[in-house]
Amino acid sequence: MIAYPHGTPPAPGQSILVAPGIYWIRMPLPFKLDHINLWLLEDHDADGDLMGDGAGDGGGEIKGRGWTIVDTGYGMAQTHTWWERHFVETMQGMPVKRIIVTHYHPDHVGCAAWLHERTGAPVWMTATEFLSAHAAAEDTSGFDRATTAAFFIAHGLARIRPDFAVAQNERSNAYKRGVPTLPRQYHRLIDGDSLRIGTRHWTVKTVLGHAPEHAVLFSTGSSTDSLNGDSVLISGDQVLPRITTNVGVWGNQPEANPLKQFLDSMDKFSSLPAATLVLPSHDRVFTGVHERIAQLALHHEQRLAELMVAIREPKSAAEILPVLFKRELDNHQLVFAMGEAIAHLHYLWYAGRAKRIQAENGIYVFQAIA
Ligand SMILES: [Zn+2]
Repeated sequence: MIAYPHGTPPAPGQSILVAPGIYWIRMPLPFKLDHINLWLLEDHDADGDLMGDGAGDGGGEIKGRGWTIVDTGYGMAQTHTWWERHFVETMQGMPVKRIIVTHYHPDHVGCAAWLHERTGAPVWMTATEFLSAHAAAEDTSGFDRATTAAFFIAHGLARIRPDFAVAQNERSNAYKRGVPTLPRQYHRLIDGDSLRIGTRHWTVKTVLGHAPEHAVLFSTGSSTDSLNGDSVLISGDQVLPRITTNVGVWGNQPEANPLKQFLDSMDKFSSLPAATLVLPSHDRVFTGVHERIAQLALHHEQRLAELMVAIREPKSAAEILPVLFKRELDNHQLVFAMGEAIAHLHYLWYAGRAKRIQAENGIYVFQAIA
């Protein structure tokens, strides 16, 4: 069963203690998905702990006491204002020791450079996420709009949206809007790393499909014998309680199979204790990780089964959008919808359930293998 042990999420500027040493805060996003959850981890070292709570009051001067921040919010002035409030109220003037970014998407990395400048704390990311952020911001390495447009046109988009390439070229770099600056240096996170943050031990795991090398963090709590009582997973966008994570194929890896990678990555969670508290980037903190992963696998299998029916006659990704998305899509949503449609078709293709044919006009179509 999926349960939500904390009722109302924190309002911007507020915080909720969700597990020993872990605070849940929220930042606004300028989209339909209007918030992101961020996590503040108490990062007091042994010296700091010995001072006890409220001993002295040197604020940021107290040696050894501080915070690790996980994810940073969309890069806009409003987020900075909320951070300033958290520095004073939630974090009580104690220093930021480290900034961990789960992946390169704007709501996660957008304020990393600003936070680094503001606090001096180093930024920790996986290598692929760090480099992808720079490529997306600089419109290079196949993250550019021309590559994206050409890729989606090869999957039939021009037929349903003839203005797409033009509109795409006229747009400013959407990534940069949310990530005005990026850190030039970072501390690399690698799958299997263990981190000690305050009294907790954390293990880094990397997962694929949503982002190229997304980091999640798992903690069994402060003592080695706490098996079920205090397990926490910071799941980023990989496991969300109600929303389905976006999994898309993009122009720089036109033959990728990210849906398989995404589902396979869930195996990394199979040994988590059933009672693990999951801290997702969107929606609410929940328990029931194994049920949620089973639901997601079923959801995608149902979509694949619908597609198998839809592609009895050969169809392009653009032509199957109405099967996957019942609502009208604007040009921004269309990009993600196309990526997602191709991801499902590629899954069937690589599984031998469909074949891919390049039509005479150069457009890729997919047909179910009976
Ligand atoms: Zn994301």
